[in-house]
Order: sequence, then C-alpha cells, then structure tokens
Amino acid sequence: MGRKELETVAPFPETIAEVREAGGEVYRYCYQCGKCDVVCPWNRVRDFSIRRIIREATFGLTQIESEDIWRCTTCGTCPQECPRGVEQVELGVALRRVASKYDVFPASVRSARAVRAGLTLEGNPLNEERAKRGDWAKDLPVRPFEEGMDVLYFVGCYYSYDPRLRKVAAATARILARAGVRFGILGEREGCCGESVRKTGAEQLFRDLARHNIKTWIDAGVKKIVVASPHCYHTFKNEYPEFKVNFEIVHMSQFLLGLVRDGRLKLEKPYPKRVAYHDPCYLGRHNGIFDEPRELLRAVPGLELVELADARQKSLCCGGGGGRVWMDTPRGERFSDLRLDQARDVGAEVLATACPYCITMFEDSRLTREDENLATVRDLAEIVEQAL
Ligand code: SF4
Ligand code: SF4
Repeated sequence: MGRKELETVAPFPETIAEVREAGGEVYRYCYQCGKCDVVCPWNRVRDFSIRRIIREATFGLTQIESEDIWRCTTCGTCPQECPRGVEQVELGVALRRVASKYDVFPASVRSARAVRAGLTLEGNPLNEERAKRGDWAKDLPVRPFEEGMDVLYFVGCYYSYDPRLRKVAAATARILARAGVRFGILGEREGCCGESVRKTGAEQLFRDLARHNIKTWIDAGVKKIVVASPHCYHTFKNEYPEFKVNFEIVHMSQFLLGLVRDGRLKLEKPYPKRVAYHDPCYLGRHNGIFDEPRELLRAVPGLELVELADARQKSLCCGGGGGRVWMDTPRGERFSDLRLDQARDVGAEVLATACPYCITMFEDSRLTREDENLATVRDLAEIVEQAL
C-alpha cells in the first residue's frame, strides 16, 4: 500500500477496525488527560505525544507511515500513571502490526527488514551465523547442556555475538564455574527469544522463534533456565506461558545473589568505586526486580552504591527497548545520553546495569560523546568477577 492510498484509507472506520483487530482496542478507555505524555521520556528530548497517537487511533486517523508509531520504547512508564488503565504499549504494538502487514517502514525503521531476515534465517537479529552462536565460549569452562545439569544458561543474541557483550558472557561463565554450578549452554541450538521483534509487530515471527526454543528445551530436558537479558527473562516468564509451558526462569542477578548468600561465591577483593545502578525497564518496572541487583552490588567490598535521579519504578529508559536498539536515533534525542548525564551528576565512576540493550546504548553514547567525565559502563557480572 502506497502513501496516497494510505491517506485515503486513514479517515475511514475500516482503519479503526484494523487497529482493533491487531490488538489495539485498548485505546477505548482513554479520556485524554495527558498524564502519559508528562512522564514519557521522549518529551525530555523532542515533541512526542502518545496521547495524540491514541486519539488518532480512536478516530481512525492513524498514519501508519509515521515515524511516531515506532517511537515508543515500551518502557512501561506511562501505563503506571494512567488513571484509566489504558495499555499504551499494546496499542503501539498493534499499530506496528498493521504497518508490518503492509510492509510500511519509515526511513529510520528500515533496519526492521534486515533484522527480520536475520531472525528468520539465522535465529538472531544481528544476521550472524547460527553455527557460530556458541563460539564465544571456546576456551572457557562451558559445556553443552545435558539433562540433569543444575541449570541451562540461556545466553541470548547480543551476549553471543556482540564483541562488547561477549566479555560479559565470558565473565558470567567464569563466575558460574567458580561457584561450582553445573551449567550448560545450547550453542547453535539456542535461538532469539523473540521479545523485541514481537514489539515491532512481527507476531508470527515471534511465535516461530518461541516454538523453536520451547521445542529445543523440551527435547534437551531443560527444567531451570538462568538468563542474563531482561528481555529474554520477560518473554520466557510472561509470554512463553501463552504456549502452555512452564519452565523455571531466573534472572542472572537473582542467581548470582543466591550464590553469594549460600557462600558459594565469596566476594573478597575490594572494588573501591562509586557505582550507580541503572534499572533496566524489563527487569525493574516490567518485572519488579529492583532489590537483587542492588543487594549484589552492596555485597562487593569497597563499592559505594549511589542512586540515580530517576530510579526503580521511575527509571529512565536507555532508549533500546521496543526494537529501538535496531533503529536510528539522532544525537540530541538519545535517552542514554541523559542517563549518562545523571550518572555524572551523582559522581558515579561506574554505571552498572544488567541488560545487553542498556549496555549497548550507553556504550554508544560514550563513544559519540567522547567526554572523559562520563562513567564507565559495566554489567553486574563484570563487577562481581572483579571482586572474586
Ligand atoms: S494517561 Fe491514560 S487516560 Fe490519560 S491520556 Fe494517557 S492513555 Fe489517555
Ligand atoms: S511506554 Fe514509555 S516510551 Fe512508550 S509511550 Fe509510554 S512512557 Fe513513552
């Protein structure tokens, strides 16, 4: 469908029906109070109104070629504030499903096609070879998963392929081995969890990815899964049960804290730095895991933990959720820049977090800004390993 045809169709009731059919009927309860726009991080960097998007959907005026329907990072801040229980994230996903149906992607979102191709052919959004998914673990104390092991370590796409994040996976593997955990990985049998591509409207692709993982886990005899990405955690915990399965899912921050509490990890070496912890949206706001990462950091000798201006439920999104990690965000509009400023404002030497997207966004910001006063970025596992 071309732009002209879209403009012709937009004002008609068929558009309302189409958005509803895609799961977007949640807009019905909105009474346009605007509380969502007040808290949306986009309004710290540019003009954007989720309220306007809701109003347009209500009247069938949605323009699916608009960049605006791709802005929501699904951070989950505005649903907390809505007095009418409107699920803004669901509406946004529904609009992207409609745009995807017509294969309409604005310029900054064109990468969506390559991402979907990579996921379809290789099982990861980076279009890396499936056969090389386990290569990061060569020369490390990591074995293929076998039935009867304590846990499956589900590594995730970014930790498997991205050079920066492979360091985190390696640190994690060394920590688990040091604690005597009997763990294994699936290597090329592992595939993308599908969380983020689902948020871009690719529902069938998500279902295919989820079925692949679930079948693999069942065939391999997996019962308990430890996972480092909050996006994988979220979808395994809250979305895979749609497929009538129920695996035990534990986030790495919880698992490592358990090892410390049980005395299997002894954090003895000092890490004398001022550290601010950034709550990833999908770990904190979406899943309520605020305390375990902080407790883990407090267990590190010499570490001084400080809070950022927007913390816990009010955490400022890094900008990478909802598939935005694959899209172009111009300088001046990056939430990650604001977050690094917040870390500098509290005098943090290190910005710690527990999410591959957050680390990617923060590291990109550090590179582009070249400001030596900005905090270095570390995953929890990297800090824990330093203290062993
Ligand atoms: S906060 Fe809720 S009711 Fe108010 S404008 Fe936003 S979606 Fe509508
Ligand atoms: S979920 Fe977050 S990014 Fe999306 S509209 Fe709400 S506040 Fe804005």
